[in-house]
Amino acid sequence: MTPPAIPLNDLRRHMAATADAVREAVNGVIASGHYILGPRVERFEKEFAGYCGVAHAVGVGNGTDALELALRACGCGPGDEVVTAANAGGYATAAVLNVGATPAYADIDPRTLVLDAKSFQKAVTPKTKAVIVTHLYGLMADMPDLCALARARGIAVVEDCAQAHGAAIAGRKAGAWGDFGCFSFYPTKNLGALGDAGAVITADAASAGTLRALRQYGWQQAKYHSPHETGRNSRMDEMQAAVLSALLPHLDAWNELRRGAAGRYRAALEGRGVVFQHVDAQERYVAHLCVVRVKQRDRLKEALRQRGIGAELHYPVADYRQPAVIKRIGQRAALPATEMAVAEVLSLPCFPEITAAEIDCVAECVASFMGSL
Ligand SMILES: *Cc1c(COP(=O)(O)O)cnc(C)c1O
Repeated sequence: MTPPAIPLNDLRRHMAATADAVREAVNGVIASGHYILGPRVERFEKEFAGYCGVAHAVGVGNGTDALELALRACGCGPGDEVVTAANAGGYATAAVLNVGATPAYADIDPRTLVLDAKSFQKAVTPKTKAVIVTHLYGLMADMPDLCALARARGIAVVEDCAQAHGAAIAGRKAGAWGDFGCFSFYPTKNLGALGDAGAVITADAASAGTLRALRQYGWQQAKYHSPHETGRNSRMDEMQAAVLSALLPHLDAWNELRRGAAGRYRAALEGRGVVFQHVDAQERYVAHLCVVRVKQRDRLKEALRQRGIGAELHYPVADYRQPAVIKRIGQRAALPATEMAVAEVLSLPCFPEITAAEIDCVAECVASFMGSL
């Protein structure tokens, strides 16, 4: 199959401009003789915590582990419930299942497509230990409301920021609102490494210590001494840390380019019958994906494919319809806004280096499809 003429994302283009700095960072690691959890990981942890405006960042193996370790640091396990949205790709659900807890699903706001505060409130039971709030497609959920509701009930707040590096509400960054902020640095994320990596940020020193132990066999204070039952290996390596330190200074500029791309789509498709994710303040949104909702979504995706345009579904299945979840909680009543989203969402090509001409070409193709209905 020939690759699409306008891809959903283009990492080769993305890395080209910073390739020299990245090569230098990698060469430094090769020469250092230190490859896992060394000075470069420590340095990146400090830089990333500083960028997010929190005291601590703990580098881990990937974003899913970040969620899982954060849940463990909350003391979440069998018998506990964790509330989350069901339209966010199943990462939160995987973490909940992996710690032996039970996922409980709340609906999303049909305009913003992120967790709805009222629905969250209704999903809370005496067993609710934590909520995982996913800032989906780069748009932050309503953290002031969600945090107030959760804290009044003694529920821990875990933010899934894997699509929202650098987004903020009133100047306070994604990940700095909850008890824990979980990040993935998978290569396609707003801040991406050259392999797998992740981090958990927290304001709490004791929790940071627990996370540091959990990522490395449960060792606390001294090597080979583990007071934790659930320690495992999920470390960040020096190469990824060095690359991330080289790229972090570019994050804000990349986010601005992403916002610009998403804004151009919005302007070009105004009045064409496609519905964009509602964004009420630009700082809340870092345009990880540019997602539109269209009733004839599958036909539009096919029309774009025929024109050589890469469009994808993020995500086509509600978590509560996945076999592993049904096995744990049985069949669950459908959540209306979630069902609407999984049936209608389509991600258009959106990355920092996409050109205006490419966006216009995609928008023209979408507009002509909508006009043909
Ligand atoms: C990518 C992603 C994850 C998982 O991160 P990995 O590093 O791939 O494990 C979790 N949550 C969301 C919302 C993501 O987009």
